[in-house]
Amino acid sequence: MTRTFDCIVVGGGHAGASAAIAAVEAGCKDVLIVEKAPEEWVGGNGYFTAGAHRTVHAGLADLLPIVTNVTAEQAEKIDVAPYTADEFIGDIMRLGENKPNAELVQALVENSRDAIRWLAETVEVPFILAFHRQAYEVDGRQKFLGGLALSVQDGGKGLIRADLRALQKRGVELWFDTPAVRLATEGSAVTGVVVRKSGEEVLLKASAVILACGGYESSRELRMKYLGPDWNMLGWVFVRGTPYNTGDGILMAQAIGAKLVGDWRGCHSTCWDANAPTDAGNRELSNQFTKSGYPLGIMVNINGERFVDEGQDFRNYTYAKIGKQILSQPEGCAFQLWDAKVIPQLRREEYGDDVVQKITASTIEKLADRLMDEGLQDKENFLRTVHEYNDASLTTAKSNWAISIDKGPFLAVKVACGITFTFGGLAIDPGTGVVLSESGDVIQGLFCTGEMIGDLYYNNYPGGSGLTAGTVFGMKAGRAAAARLASGKDAA
Ligand SMILES: Cc1cc2nc3c(=O)[nH]c(=O)nc-3n(C[C@H](O)[C@H](O)[C@H](O)COP(=O)(O)OP(=O)(O)OC[C@H]3O[C@@H](n4cnc5c(N)ncnc54)[C@H](O)[C@@H]3O)c2cc1C
Repeated sequence: MTRTFDCIVVGGGHAGASAAIAAVEAGCKDVLIVEKAPEEWVGGNGYFTAGAHRTVHAGLADLLPIVTNVTAEQAEKIDVAPYTADEFIGDIMRLGENKPNAELVQALVENSRDAIRWLAETVEVPFILAFHRQAYEVDGRQKFLGGLALSVQDGGKGLIRADLRALQKRGVELWFDTPAVRLATEGSAVTGVVVRKSGEEVLLKASAVILACGGYESSRELRMKYLGPDWNMLGWVFVRGTPYNTGDGILMAQAIGAKLVGDWRGCHSTCWDANAPTDAGNRELSNQFTKSGYPLGIMVNINGERFVDEGQDFRNYTYAKIGKQILSQPEGCAFQLWDAKVIPQLRREEYGDDVVQKITASTIEKLADRLMDEGLQDKENFLRTVHEYNDASLTTAKSNWAISIDKGPFLAVKVACGITFTFGGLAIDPGTGVVLSESGDVIQGLFCTGEMIGDLYYNNYPGGSGLTAGTVFGMKAGRAAAARLASGKDAA
């Protein structure tokens, strides 16, 4: 039997939840989220995140009212510089080599602070200052660096718990094991979605359909098609999050004439534990497989050669492009390396004894021997690379944190490429989130948010932008869906 809703959201990650909550807040009554994954995979990629949210803000005093982990006494010893709209826009454009759609970027940035306020007040997301990931102690003060200070208590797990509570409170239905398979149309307008439920295809009608079902990072076929053959190498590319983001929404929208835009050869990919599971994240360790400590040390490939400027910028501005650089190395892997001087500075959650296989030795020669057992193929070259680095006679630059590697014990970990999400996606109107067609017209009744949006990032990305973008455009789409309903555009 066909059921009719005010609004149907496809995909139950953070972007989809934001859209559904905003739709209810704006007047929709019957809101449904259809989710492809079973309940044990609830939350999409959002569940696996560190909960980092990038936003424009006016400094510590602006953030204190929304965080739950700072006492008045602690606040005296914290430095958070303001982060302006110009800086946020500048970061996305700089990292994207000026290719991102300026209107889309502006819409994200200018609405970022309101979106955070809405998440804190309406969704009741328990924001914290991310001392453990974004700050270092300098002269007895906690100094935040890299344009990012906000995270969520218990990371992505805490974020998705808050989303689910807010959805439940508003009576939003959430159907698991229910993939959307195609969009229903009448004329050029979208009037609903066909889903697969208990093995049957079912037509669900709605005044508005909001696509929030992620990119194609978990599809080996689409990765190979768009990103290139390396991205299909078995055991070389690791999916960091949900295995269910296989590009379905993009294909469904494309099938009814939606315009594809953005960086189709690009994706977000990081240094990832080479011993992690390959085709999906691990729901317990989630983001802990990330290995972000490379700015403090060096990385070498299996030939013992450096291949990247590990200190080019703050981690938040380099980590999303380094996975790809590792993938292009022989056998698609690398070793990160540090000495005793900096080991205590590595993030505990990523480099704790119980989190990662540590390769340690008292001298660099012994470490080289141990690395030979783990896949290093050229010990002499490795030793030469470390000595040249220490002598500062570099062929590959180390622009910052050029700290010598000469004090034992030494530590190495093996890393590979972890894919996070893809950059190519749908064209939307930045004001409403409505999807645009090949000819540039609005597709009535179809909206989009989250990782599915194209043209926002190229090649690289400033950490913490994804969650914020999902909420900014989710709020726009949810409100536009309610406005469409109010204007009498019921499902036909
Ligand atoms: C390990 C990791 C750490 C990260 N850390 C951060 C961070 O700290 N800060 C940050 O800003 N970003 C981070 N990100 C990126 C962030 O997760 C995304 O930008 C954001 O969650 C995107 O939200 P989304 O709702 O668009 O996608 P998702 O959260 O992936 O949700 C998409 C949902 O759609 C469902 N779906 C797919 N196909 C269908 C279909 N046919 N029908 C119905 N449902 C479907 C999927 O099952 C999934 O639940 C991280 C990502 C990973 C993997």
